[in-house]
Amino acid sequence: VEHYLQRIDAESHLNAFIEVYKDEVRNLAPVINAKILNGTAGRLAGMVIGIKDLICYKDHGVSAGSRMLENYVSIFSATVVERLLDEDAIIIGRLNCDEFAMGGSNENSYFGHVKNFADNTKVSGGSSGGSAVAVQAGLCMAALGTDTGGSVRQPASFCGIIGLKPTYGRVSRHGIVAYASSFDQVGPLTKSVEDAALIMEIIAGHDDFDSTSSTFPVPKYSQELSFEGKKRIAYLPETLLSEGLDPEVKLLTETMIKRLQDEGHSVEPISFPYLDYVVPTYYILTTAESSSNLARYDGVHYGFRSPNAADLESTYKKSRSEGFGAEVKRRIMLGTFVLSAGHYASFYGKAQKVRRLIREKTEEILRDHDFILLPTSPGPAFGLGEKTDDPVVMYLADIFTVQASLAGIPAISLPVKNNSKGLPLGLQLIGKRFGEAELLSFSKYVM
Ligand code: GLN
Repeated sequence: VEHYLQRIDAESHLNAFIEVYKDEVRNLAPVINAKILNGTAGRLAGMVIGIKDLICYKDHGVSAGSRMLENYVSIFSATVVERLLDEDAIIIGRLNCDEFAMGGSNENSYFGHVKNFADNTKVSGGSSGGSAVAVQAGLCMAALGTDTGGSVRQPASFCGIIGLKPTYGRVSRHGIVAYASSFDQVGPLTKSVEDAALIMEIIAGHDDFDSTSSTFPVPKYSQELSFEGKKRIAYLPETLLSEGLDPEVKLLTETMIKRLQDEGHSVEPISFPYLDYVVPTYYILTTAESSSNLARYDGVHYGFRSPNAADLESTYKKSRSEGFGAEVKRRIMLGTFVLSAGHYASFYGKAQKVRRLIREKTEEILRDHDFILLPTSPGPAFGLGEKTDDPVVMYLADIFTVQASLAGIPAISLPVKNNSKGLPLGLQLIGKRFGEAELLSFSKYVM
């Protein structure tokens, strides 16, 4: 605990933490030590974990990176937090993120951007940027993030660590500030596959507080990491031809394909004709869901209330205008538009149908293959401020992560190599529904 507190102080310029629970963890550490000595400690005893500031922790602030919730204190803990604490994890603080998890660079946080530890002029990735940098820089051992369309995997790839997005429904969403409810999942960011497996084993499983959480049994992921045999892997040729793909990322993917083939696995190109549609479909559906989810921030029930409001209508208008940042407002407007009476059928309704096509095609590929291999992101971490002027450019960078999100299936980003400038590059494996155990054991083999 002292080691991590010192590291956090030394690297405070990275802006990874929004709050550090210094006194609290100093008091907790001896209690856990005593449990370790008398043999009653849980499976995470000694693990120092940071949580994305989107995950509720009783009697602790949770801001979702927003002015709207700047002073909000949670009255209950998310199920994932309870499960970590039950196993004696030490939660050291809450981590910076894009406002309401909307973003891919952590530049949309009310609390400022996060710097990449590999190069302080580059973004951390997002939206779980604080979570990724905290692990990358050794400010905690592991972190929890949330992934709606890549927010665990993409910052993991920008920071050279592992990030897993579980199958939709594998991990309870109870106590997670909602962005797009049919996509959101909590996932671990870690330096080793073992840590990811252990955390998953503890946070996964049914929860009475989340009706979309699955009753499918949770394997002992951490004990199923040995891998034998040969796998069938698909890669999508369209991904390697996609515009804007960094040549070094392309080469890295091709090198991995060759390596796995040389090691006796079958790795074959399978066409995925919907690649051009994944980003538009994702943004229509997630903005629609978020416009509905964020309607609760009305300046009346909880969160920020404008001091300049005079009556009910100006309370709504001013509280939302002053409490939300630009990207959140953009998405609320887009989402409200695609759900509006005149446009529902041509946007929201159609996107639902395209989502089904994407899911079915992806599942069809995974009937004959164990995994799909693709880059996590088209390029390495980009410069701070480089993409902030153009939201469409920012959205298009999600092209490789949103497929698994639309299909609701698990995907992991693995740190494979640094590019010629020393920036981490990641590759992604998509697995079968509830195939986290296979995904993790193969990841361990690949690494
Ligand atoms: N970059 C994507 C978005 O802005 C993903 C965010 C996420 O997964 N929370 O929606």
